[in-house]
Amino acid sequence: MTAYLIRNVSVVGGAPTDLLIRDGVVAETGAGLTAPDATVLDATGLVALPGLVDLHTHLREPGREDAETVESGSRAAALGGYTAVCAMANTSPVADTAGVVEQVWRLGREAGLVDVQPIGAVTVGLAGERLAELGAMADSAARVRIFSDDGHCVADPKLMRRALEYVKAFDGVVAQHAEEPRLTEGAQMHEGEVSTRLGLTGWPAVAEEAIIARDVLLAEHVGSRLHICHVSTAGSVEVLRHAKARGVKVTAEVTPHHLLLTDEKAATYDPVYKVNPPLRTAADIAALRAALAEGVIDIVATDHAPHAVEDKECEWAYARPGMLGLETALSIALDVLGPQWDLIAERMSRAPARIAGLDSHGLDPAPGVPANLTLVDPSARRVVEPADLASRSRNTPYARMTLPGRIVATFLRGEPTVLDGKAVK
Ligand SMILES: [Zn+2]
Repeated sequence: MTAYLIRNVSVVGGAPTDLLIRDGVVAETGAGLTAPDATVLDATGLVALPGLVDLHTHLREPGREDAETVESGSRAAALGGYTAVCAMANTSPVADTAGVVEQVWRLGREAGLVDVQPIGAVTVGLAGERLAELGAMADSAARVRIFSDDGHCVADPKLMRRALEYVKAFDGVVAQHAEEPRLTEGAQMHEGEVSTRLGLTGWPAVAEEAIIARDVLLAEHVGSRLHICHVSTAGSVEVLRHAKARGVKVTAEVTPHHLLLTDEKAATYDPVYKVNPPLRTAADIAALRAALAEGVIDIVATDHAPHAVEDKECEWAYARPGMLGLETALSIALDVLGPQWDLIAERMSRAPARIAGLDSHGLDPAPGVPANLTLVDPSARRVVEPADLASRSRNTPYARMTLPGRIVATFLRGEPTVLDGKAVK
């Protein structure tokens, strides 16, 4: 194992110091370290963050390897500064058995670029009719702790209650895609002025808020952990604020795109902007940003959703919802939050690692800590070129935009997965 001496790096925004990485851990920190056997990296001007952790990634394998594989998605994640991702269950077959979650977990280990933590489905086949084998997935080699039917809402309140009760035994968490299906039938975009103008069927904010309100009450009743995926409305923030004040064990995520892009993008009819939940209004964005700063929203999660060209470059009505996110998330966070490194570390690494129960991630670089970290150049600016992305898909909404920040290096257990901004393998 090679040792690395990272010189003059700002750890989470602090004064420049040196970091010595040896045998998979941060061996030493301090100014003027020496280690004759180590490879030296000059990190002057760079910021070291604990490796980012994504609680919401679609890797598409098994089933849609044309859109993404565990390996290509892992590489995209490493290039984005991530050392761990949680892989959503809506694959084909669905990750609703110990066999499928173990397959995804094993593929992640073989790729060796990030830790891939599978999420298990709540219901068999994501059909919302009966509970999947939650206990068997929890006991499997993949040790699943997060369960989600993401892409679909667990709409049946009785099933949702039973899922919350079941996961309590092993401190699991149910991650809800909050969308009351009867209120979003045929929906194409956010319901509001723009949808009226364009004549498209709307997805009303209340369809999200009603499910969050119901589920925080269920979580309070059961005493279980609930996580809300991709919160997108100002009203949802108010429901979450109320629930947290009552001491409900609820956490919530927001995506980079819901922090930046508005429903006006739908007027382009470019399906790259079609996503579920849909892009909302400027007022929603303002509320989401404030909630993220305040902690009512706990984390940024990408909802990285690769899609093959034929599923995206078609008429708006037929296009699949979803956007790439892993390779641009840190830049969007930097754009939205500014260089608030401690806040970025909290929302993109420490808190998601805690929610997912990933003990070796989300730890600031310090002696004895597993060397899962990323080095960011905050002064760099880059133009997003879809053709340059490591993802197998091209559906980024940031094509040809200039974004701040660049991931220079990422280390997983002391081994570089990215160096000089390029994937090592
Ligand atoms: Zn979702």
